Amino acid sequence: MKESHFQAPLTSIVVAGGGAAGWLTAAILAAEHNIKNNDRVSVTLVESPDVKILGVGEGTWPTMRDTLRKIGISEADFIASCDASFKQGTRFVNWKSTESENVYDHPFSLPAGFFEGEVGAWWLSHGHKHQKSTFSEMFSTQSLLCNFSKAPKQVQTPPYAAVANYGYHLDAHKFAELLKTHCIERLGVNYVNDHIEHIKEDAEGYIASLQCKSQEISGDLFVDCTGFSATLIGKHFNSPITDVSHGLKNNSAMAVQAGYVDENVDIASATLSTAHENGWIWDIGLPHRKGVGCVYSSEFTSDEKAAETLKAYLTSCKKTKDVSESDFRKITFSPGYRKTAWVKNCVAVGTSAGFVEPLEASALVMVEMSARFISEHLPNHREIMPSVSKRFNSNFTRRWERIVDFLKLHYVLSVRKDSPYWRFMTNLDNASEQLKDWLLEWQYRPISLTDFCYADELFPAASYMYVLYGMKAPEQFAINFSRYSDSVMGQTLNAVKANEKLSQKHIAALPTNRELIKAIRA
Ligand SMILES: Cc1cc2nc3c(=O)[nH]c(=O)nc-3n(C[C@H](O)[C@H](O)[C@H](O)COP(=O)(O)OP(=O)(O)OC[C@H]3O[C@@H](n4cnc5c(N)ncnc54)[C@H](O)[C@@H]3O)c2cc1C
Repeated sequence: MKESHFQAPLTSIVVAGGGAAGWLTAAILAAEHNIKNNDRVSVTLVESPDVKILGVGEGTWPTMRDTLRKIGISEADFIASCDASFKQGTRFVNWKSTESENVYDHPFSLPAGFFEGEVGAWWLSHGHKHQKSTFSEMFSTQSLLCNFSKAPKQVQTPPYAAVANYGYHLDAHKFAELLKTHCIERLGVNYVNDHIEHIKEDAEGYIASLQCKSQEISGDLFVDCTGFSATLIGKHFNSPITDVSHGLKNNSAMAVQAGYVDENVDIASATLSTAHENGWIWDIGLPHRKGVGCVYSSEFTSDEKAAETLKAYLTSCKKTKDVSESDFRKITFSPGYRKTAWVKNCVAVGTSAGFVEPLEASALVMVEMSARFISEHLPNHREIMPSVSKRFNSNFTRRWERIVDFLKLHYVLSVRKDSPYWRFMTNLDNASEQLKDWLLEWQYRPISLTDFCYADELFPAASYMYVLYGMKAPEQFAINFSRYSDSVMGQTLNAVKANEKLSQKHIAALPTNRELIKAIRA
């Protein structure tokens, strides 16, 4: 009896939750397993009519282009339905210090000469001679493109193809709606609108079914996308959260949508992230409005002060209409993640699996990666579930650890000491041993591709270069450059010169973000 249960084929996948995580996961599974024409496997999504979606994830990574293409949504439909715009990276304002306005960029493109040259060594030995240019201006076309709110491609560039690497800014509610319609009408996903009240287990402790208010849904694999409530993985399985607040304290956000004063105003090509005394503010430009939010820690400041900070930011931003404080929406979260996100036949994806903070917008890309993993390694019966889940858990724990390190990097490199918040966040003592080791070593040698062991690192060497060399001046390192030959340095110089030429060419040839969006939506 037990034997046959373990070897019975997996035929039904149930996704619990209809936020971005639930619909993206359902779409990836349904598209990759050809569910519409597959009479052996089904995907069902159940969503509560009583619990609203989070609806604030508005920044994506370039990976989303591939995801949308693979699930069969056209880029033009996506841009029009989700009020989307193009994102070429993140621009960090006032993160380095409190002195005058200081800016650095983390663009999506790799630095010029990344594979063939010695980018770090060249920048650290020659960068101080180019005081007027930042690291990203020197090695990427995208800082300049962002200065002029330029699009990442031309009108005639094929859908999802890029001249400069890009992801999107989007309206999170409209995105979930588009995915829902697409999943139900095009991909063959079954939809149930009901609230899960109880979980029924079988004799082995696997989930047998979800008892909803008006029906019972049975299945073989359950994907928990119920958001912060984590109905399956948390409430039922009690899989613990690894708390990361010992190093990253942000646990609150005050968010608002602000309309433009002029409908033709430029749309920013990067997420703006502006540091303030007790956290930072995100500023995302969509075609018809901005999404703006103040991120902070309740340990260091009050909601009232956060609202004041947000209000002051919006007032200083000349492009948007006045908003009332009654439109501000407070969101709280506990920074952390589940090391065991897959228990028995239940795997958590999205905020039910974890959330650290919105800096670098790494939540939706984790959803894409998790869904792809589940799809590619889909256990065809229960017998192999334990080995797949073990690999999932170790793989994604590593990713969470790297997210925590990379986010902490932005704080520890800052020399801001203007508040207890910044004195805490800049303290390297509460960073991981890995990050401490890297920062010590990088003081004496440039960042190397071999610092990172995995081909699919979320934040590879290039990302660390943009942040470390963006925040810390070349003269603050102590590197012996004698090992670098003139020919290697010459190659990097050529890459820098080529990047300069390319930047000018792109500036002349590319439309603005708004012009491209208008043309696509026409
Ligand atoms: C302040 C903030 C800013 C963010 N910014 C970004 C960003 O820029 N980029 C990015 O990638 N990510 C961002 N994120 C994360 C992003 O918002 C989430 O990853 C995304 O919204 C997915 O959420 P979700 O689907 O996991 O959960 P939710 O949107 O909360 O969806 C949960 C779903 O579960 C259902 N549900 C709950 N309980 C039950 C039940 N008992 N029965 C049935 N259904 C149930 C609900 O009805 C809902 O459909 C941000 C998060 C925060 C907090």
